[in-house]
Amino acid sequence: MPLQIRFVTSAKRHSDLPPTPCEVAFVGRSNVGKSSLINALANQRQLARVSNTPGRTQLINLFTLPGGGTLVDLPGYGYAKVPGRERATWQAMIEGYLLEREGLEVVFVLVDGEIGPTKLDVQMLNWLSASVVPHTIVATKLDKVRSSKRDTRKRDLAAGCGLEIGDIIWVSASKGTGIEQLQKHIESLLNP
Ligand code: GDP
Repeated sequence: MPLQIRFVTSAKRHSDLPPTPCEVAFVGRSNVGKSSLINALANQRQLARVSNTPGRTQLINLFTLPGGGTLVDLPGYGYAKVPGRERATWQAMIEGYLLEREGLEVVFVLVDGEIGPTKLDVQMLNWLSASVVPHTIVATKLDKVRSSKRDTRKRDLAAGCGLEIGDIIWVSASKGTGIEQLQKHIESLLNP
């Protein structure tokens, strides 16, 4: 079943977001496939904007699920065309949210399944571990990895993150692979 997701609001700072009892968040490098994944989870095309549209993608976006849970779309990091000062603002925004947001159950860190983890992903993962923020890695774009290479790629990606193969959730937003499992996982986290 697709998650019945409804867009509620966007904010520049997490302190401007309405409080919620429990939520999951999504974070990842720009272009990792975060919007596509959120749209696939909701079975909607335009819920989260695909590709780097200025505006909403630079804000924290909050969506609600029917059971009372909340899904938070954090701005993508590492977009090369963004000047340093703006990047620092993004970082402060993301870190502030992750450290201070009450009710955050888990943050899903998206890593590009074909090429990840990148240096920035590893930095983010190390920071999350050091800050004791509960997180789970979701590897995206599984369809881009040839079937014959998948076992090796899964092992390499997990090793690059310092984890075991079974610790990583693999999805393809394009093909729908792993989407239902992730929907169920999110529902169980938000409606225990
Ligand atoms: P975001 O910047 O993280 O929100 O990434 P987008 O969702 O905008 O996706 C970035 C690019 O990757 C777009 O060209 C998408 O069409 C493509 N993409 C996203 N998910 C998948 C996937 O599962 N498979 C493939 N082949 N391409 C994908």
